Amino acid sequence: MLGFLLARAGIDVLVLEKHGDFLRDFRGDTIHPSTLEILDELGLAERFLALPHSRTSAFTLRTSRGAAFSASFDGLPTRYPFVAFVPQWDFLNFITAEARRYPGFRLLMNAEVTDVLRDGEAVGGLRYRTNGAARDAHALLTVGADGRGSRTRGAVGLPGVSASPPMDVFWFRLPRRPGDPTGAQAMIGPGHFIAMLDRGDYWQVGYTIGKGQADAVRASGLEMFRRSLGSLVPLFADRTGELRDWEQIRLLTVRADRLTRWYAPGFLAIGDAAHAMSPVAGVGINVAIQDAVVAANVLWRPLRQGEVSVRDLAAVQRRRQMTVRATQAMQAFMQRQLLARNLQSGRLPVIPGLLRVAGRLPALRTVLPRLVALGINRPHVECPEVAPVDQ
Ligand SMILES: Cc1cc2nc3c(=O)[nH]c(=O)nc-3n(C[C@H](O)[C@H](O)[C@H](O)COP(=O)(O)OP(=O)(O)OC[C@H]3O[C@@H](n4cnc5c(N)ncnc54)[C@H](O)[C@@H]3O)c2cc1C
Repeated sequence: MLGFLLARAGIDVLVLEKHGDFLRDFRGDTIHPSTLEILDELGLAERFLALPHSRTSAFTLRTSRGAAFSASFDGLPTRYPFVAFVPQWDFLNFITAEARRYPGFRLLMNAEVTDVLRDGEAVGGLRYRTNGAARDAHALLTVGADGRGSRTRGAVGLPGVSASPPMDVFWFRLPRRPGDPTGAQAMIGPGHFIAMLDRGDYWQVGYTIGKGQADAVRASGLEMFRRSLGSLVPLFADRTGELRDWEQIRLLTVRADRLTRWYAPGFLAIGDAAHAMSPVAGVGINVAIQDAVVAANVLWRPLRQGEVSVRDLAAVQRRRQMTVRATQAMQAFMQRQLLARNLQSGRLPVIPGLLRVAGRLPALRTVLPRLVALGINRPHVECPEVAPVDQ
């Protein structure tokens, strides 16, 4: 996204991607209203929403004891009061195709970054491997947008702090059947939290377990897992047999961390590389995209002028860090209140009561969807556009 925005502003950009394509296991595909608004500002929303996708404008949280809390995006101040579910590879193929319309954009696939290049005290580019050969790419500015296992931030040695989310998540698909409810659902049962995302003809299911318990769950057998799922979510009791192999069930080791400094001379980390997000509320993609928008807003002019100072890079962090910290704090709160005690003790002491109270509080029914949909502080696109090559 940052590559797209900078190329659109007339900057030469080289994006290095270690894989040969963007096809990857499920790692979230929720495009929230905040991102749809950004795409709208860029004139891309209509083309983007022409991609095959499903939508949800409401979410429901239930407990196995029958309490429920529902909230809807209807009435939020946005042209797009829904979450669009678009596989990440479709989003990335879309945005890179749009970026190629600008003369400065270059994307190199199968190019794995192995180290940063030094230019005195500063970072001066990247060393990468492609087709078995080591290559160097020199750059005025190097951006680490290489995700939560970021090689670049490690190579630069930026300081950070990490939290310990209490859970890991098994992700898998189950078919949807006629008469199933629609929209995003979540079920809290003793010892578990199950997220169910309506993806049209299937459910994308996140089955939360206590941190580090994956091996124990696998050791007790697939049949036990299927039975537990069917009893926690009666809707699935007729289809748990579709899970025939642990290969269908992927483990996400949940991490949450953030750098205390996102930059060094010549280098900036953004997205999960700067702050790995927990999957709670499915906001990581949207927060990463907002980082890209702010980075482009701040940096396009210094880049055009050929000089990016540490102050410019610090300004990106300054504009984003409160939002990131507040979002992570909200995720940690939800993890503690809804998950930690439940996952550890297998009891549901207060949640049904809390949900009933929450359901009666109109403010919560409005504030929560608004936070999830629009984020805490949505940036606007402020950088200019040069003429695309196809105009
Ligand atoms: C299972 C799972 C479920 C999730 N669910 C959701 C969800 O529902 N909604 C949501 O908003 N977020 C979700 N997230 C979080 C979301 O995926 C991330 O927050 C988001 O993708 C961060 O974007 P990013 O661009 O910073 O990093 P990434 O999306 O991780 O992208 C990093 C890119 O860098 C490439 N790369 C890495 N190392 C190198 C290297 N050395 N050289 C070259 N290229 C490299 C990778 O191949 C990748 O393409 C989920 C995450 C996981 C793992």
